[in-house]
Amino acid sequence: MPTYCDEGAIVSGAGLQSVGSRISVCSRCETPLPICEALDSRFARVWTCSQCGTQFTGVLAKNYSIQELRAVRPEAIVFDPDSIQPVCPEMLEFARGISTHDRSNIEKRTATRHPIVAILTVMELDEQLRALGPPFQTISRNLSTGGICLINDRALAGDFLAIELKGAGGASIYTLAHVLRRRPIGPYQDIGTEFVTKFASSTIEEQVEE
Ligand SMILES: [Zn+2]
Repeated sequence: MPTYCDEGAIVSGAGLQSVGSRISVCSRCETPLPICEALDSRFARVWTCSQCGTQFTGVLAKNYSIQELRAVRPEAIVFDPDSIQPVCPEMLEFARGISTHDRSNIEKRTATRHPIVAILTVMELDEQLRALGPPFQTISRNLSTGGICLINDRALAGDFLAIELKGAGGASIYTLAHVLRRRPIGPYQDIGTEFVTKFASSTIEEQVEE
């Protein structure tokens, strides 16, 4: 039974975007999906059901929940190494100092949060998961199975980040993270995120089998 997205249109950076009827559940496994049919094919993207791998073409609903967003894998992305802005060495030093502090206070933290200082490449995304700028380097402060905290040299405008993580064998895994917290820390920004979903894989062999 189709439900309807907010009538008409999404006002966005890309202009007025038409949205059709909601694809309310996955046709194969019935997982609720945050996707609507695209009335304008220029905005259509491919979404993969996280549960069963079925692919849908459409746009994100305007009023999706983070829980619904977990049900889909957005279209594959790959960061162009030539366009990545490097991190400044001072910020790395700062993050290492914070990390030492984090370690000494570890008993106050949840057991699953590991202080891991590493340079990561991320890209800011808006609520429709469109890029807000080129990818840039930032620094992880700590990592858990649920999310990652970052130290960044400026405040973020977007509510989402695409984060490139290195899997076994050095393969890139692109993860979608939702920004939950942003506050100043010294001259930098402390950014807390939760992992939402993974982007679809860009390599054929890793894709979910149909
Ligand atoms: Zn499914």
